Amino acid sequence: MPSSEFTNCPTLPELIRRRAERTGDRTALVFVSDDDERFEWTYGDLWRRALETAARLPEPNSVHSSDASASSNSANRISSQGQPDRALLLFPPGLEFMAGFLGAQLAGFIPVPTAYPKPNRQMPRLDSAADDCRPTVLIGDAASLAGLDDNRLAASARSIARVATDENVPSNHGIALADAPAFSPQHLPGADTVAFLQYTSGSTSEPKGVLVRHRNLIANLESIRRGFQIDWQDDDVQRPDRGVFWLPFFHDMGLIGGILEPLYVGGTAVLMSPRAFLRRPIRWLELISEEKARISGAPNFAFQLAVDRVTPEQADNLDLSNWKTAFCGAEPIAPRTLSDFANRFEPCGFSRDAFYPCYGLAEATLLAAGGDGPSEPKTVTVHRGSLGQGKAVVDPKGRGREFVKLVACGSAAYQTELVIVDPQSRQPVASQVVGEIWIRGEGVTDGYWNRDEENETQFRASLAHDDGRRFCRTGDLGFEFEGNLFITGRRKDVVVLRGRNHYPQDIEATVRELFAGESIQTAAFAVDAHRGEALIVVVELPRRDANADHAGTVRRIRRAIVEAHEIDPTEVLLVRAATVPLTSSGKVQRLRCRQQFLDGDIKTKHHYRRAFAGEQ
Ligand code: ATP
Ligand code: MG
Repeated sequence: MPSSEFTNCPTLPELIRRRAERTGDRTALVFVSDDDERFEWTYGDLWRRALETAARLPEPNSVHSSDASASSNSANRISSQGQPDRALLLFPPGLEFMAGFLGAQLAGFIPVPTAYPKPNRQMPRLDSAADDCRPTVLIGDAASLAGLDDNRLAASARSIARVATDENVPSNHGIALADAPAFSPQHLPGADTVAFLQYTSGSTSEPKGVLVRHRNLIANLESIRRGFQIDWQDDDVQRPDRGVFWLPFFHDMGLIGGILEPLYVGGTAVLMSPRAFLRRPIRWLELISEEKARISGAPNFAFQLAVDRVTPEQADNLDLSNWKTAFCGAEPIAPRTLSDFANRFEPCGFSRDAFYPCYGLAEATLLAAGGDGPSEPKTVTVHRGSLGQGKAVVDPKGRGREFVKLVACGSAAYQTELVIVDPQSRQPVASQVVGEIWIRGEGVTDGYWNRDEENETQFRASLAHDDGRRFCRTGDLGFEFEGNLFITGRRKDVVVLRGRNHYPQDIEATVRELFAGESIQTAAFAVDAHRGEALIVVVELPRRDANADHAGTVRRIRRAIVEAHEIDPTEVLLVRAATVPLTSSGKVQRLRCRQQFLDGDIKTKHHYRRAFAGEQ
């Protein structure tokens, strides 16, 4: 089939409908459970299950904003008023999620993926999403809905309708497409309809709900396809390309990178649970090997976990030679992690040419920058002091702690414009000068749910010489060098000490190096002290640290930070493992950690405070 038929597809449901018609028997989704049980849906199954779910849902109260009235002009105001009802999705890892997601879209709701609660735990991510977007229906699998503890649920998610996708569902096999229940065509979404609310990770504040329209989604799926260089899986392909993913589907990378992209190109997404990966990181690589997967990817920490935890015996039988695109993004990428991973798994057929370091954010649907296809990662060695002053002085021969190595994240994604801007003067900066990353384009969304003021300043920014272009300010800092984008950190996290900028992630990396092979977390932040800003570093101790020399550990941490960053931390808090607050995607929440510190809420095993008399 000509691929153009899919490039021109306006919405996700329309895309799945066409695929179900053309290649209904092709495997779309596979889920391998934690007990290694295998579940499969064809494209036909997926479409039928979506229709069945749509037929079970109540009428939404509001209607879709029609495409005619939501031209690019009126889309300037994306007031949450007048938007269709929201449907909160509550699914454990598995296939049912996609029945809920597509079914909600077909029935005229805006689906809102959210974190699956752990038994007997609070559900902060679900609660904050529910309080923010005020859903009118909760869609889940029957078992999850039955197991919900109302007392633990936010009021806004408690008293609303509940619909199970899998109650009394006939076996998928043997049902013809024509037998699928009908649904009212008036609900078919258009390109400007909101496809879903994507809550951000919550690294810097409460997660915010990004309104992703179908046109943003389809555009970004195409940007990813071109960036990753994935081929369309034509009708006559015998064994479509497979991708293997364990990423949670309530995060943009898991949903779009892990499920929707494989479906977009007509491939097969093979899924496993995040928990299965965290328990046994080898399972991720085994599945890639068994499935002969062409694509898989994850944030940096996952590649590091594989390096730290996979034993040589476990790696013995792996064949990673089919893995052609290994994307890595969503958080800072450590050059060392990528090279260690490659060195470690090259004997298993992994190729470092498969790496695809990239930069993305929910506000851009997903991908904002990356290379032209996978390739061996490019790195640059920069003088750390210069970076703190906003200039990337490159020294290819630089060695030692005064230098920092960064991984290139390619250039602006297809259909995306990316400018690096001085946030004060709003002028684009020169090559090698650090500035804020501003983006615009088809995949870039036009705002958050219910935050009109923020949307005006963050999503409709103009350059000093206003040329009519409107940009989304990402809040991320970076520079361009030889055509590549390098990310240096987030504006909100930058630590300013004695007039110099420091990137906390860089300080944290210095600390983590001291604990090589231990997967510890650490958070660095500044607080106001009576002699100006003070640097505070919270460091988790390795789990097996029975009678360690804590004072000696602090000395080593201080020495490393002084050598590399020329600052002596005012306080170092050694804490138990799993103390530093993380988002559900495993990113450090520095501002939250800082607040806990200010509130005196951090339990320490050892607390070092610098004596003021000794301060230089
Ligand atoms: P919140 O917006 O709620 O504070 P978040 O920004 O972590 O959380 P996401 O949209 O999931 O939420 O993550 C996008 C962010 O992740 C980017 O804005 C950037 O800060 C970071 N990021 C993504 N890719 C990279 C990368 N390659 N290198 C460094 N940081 C990255
Ligand atoms: Mg963000």
